[in-house]
Amino acid sequence: MQIKVNNVSIECVKGDIASQPDITAIVNAANAQLRRGGGVAGAIHRAAGPELEKECIPLGPIKPGEAVISGGHNLPNDFDIHCLGPVYGNDKPEDKRLSDCYRNAIELAEKHHIESIAFPAISTGVFGYPIEDATTVALSTIHSLLPDLKHLKTIRFVLFSQNDYEVYESKIKLMFSKK
Ligand code: ADP
Repeated sequence: MQIKVNNVSIECVKGDIASQPDITAIVNAANAQLRRGGGVAGAIHRAAGPELEKECIPLGPIKPGEAVISGGHNLPNDFDIHCLGPVYGNDKPEDKRLSDCYRNAIELAEKHHIESIAFPAISTGVFGYPIEDATTVALSTIHSLLPDLKHLKTIRFVLFSQNDYEVYESKIKLMFSKK
């Protein structure tokens, strides 16, 4: 689904974050060392090739909520933005750390004049953040940043499961539709 707010397209799709060829920057749910790993990081590093890890390791380690930017290497995207989400129950306050991820990623994208960005559902896999709460944090953070955007025209959320897609779809309608 897609909704237009302030001239920015807010989208959610069911799919693979590493297969978004029409997007300039994709976001990685990274680990602190910015190494390959599993889940989102595994899919991104597999598609990008070994040069991505070589570029990333010197940029780390990063702390929960932080974000760094790299090239896309063999991905169809020009950039990867690597965020370390909070481990639920551990990196407190989790909502603040998760919000920082989205805000820092958007700020890096704006700094690099990027027009389109795609996010996975950071922290909702191995890091255990409940999808409903994580979605509320992600969308309210993006909502609060919309008035300041100068370059971004597309913000896409890429969800791996049908359930996660449906959570995003209903919350986007709720939070972004004009009342
Ligand atoms: P974290 O460690 O931040 O929890 P994960 O990579 O374990 O990150 O998972 C984050 C979310 O991304 C989970 O909801 C998971 O189902 C989903 N996911 C896993 N692989 C992909 C992929 N290739 N594209 C998009 N989402 C994915």
